[in-house]
Amino acid sequence: MTERNTRQKTAVATVLAEARTPLTPRDIQVRARTIVATISQATVYRILKGLLEKQDVTTVQLPGEPPLYEQAGKTHHHFFRCRRCKQMYEVQGCDNLIDRLVPKGFTLEDHDVFLFGLCRTCTGEQSA
Ligand SMILES: [Zn+2]
Ligand SMILES: [Zn+2]
Repeated sequence: MTERNTRQKTAVATVLAEARTPLTPRDIQVRARTIVATISQATVYRILKGLLEKQDVTTVQLPGEPPLYEQAGKTHHHFFRCRRCKQMYEVQGCDNLIDRLVPKGFTLEDHDVFLFGLCRTCTGEQSA
């Protein structure tokens, strides 16, 4: 592996580690460019593919939208998606809520929850 490849990989890993919300490959490229100026979209995709295979990164799949990427191994969380500004916000603390939905005799293995609506900023703009 060349030194340039390593620097690009490190840049993508750094962007993902510092991100507070899941990112599109385009977001990742824009941010990675502040670290390695020449990184291309194709390179970002290639690095993401490698990270996915190693399970260092996971995808967040909103219905009908291309996948977003976030660092693997974060504490359990979900997302609130603002329909107006498209911003994603992490939401914590779903545990008991979900367990109560499971029918008696069923075994829950996994779940995925997305909340949709308006964020605080957009709610404020609407009422103003
Ligand atoms: Zn908003
Ligand atoms: Zn949950």
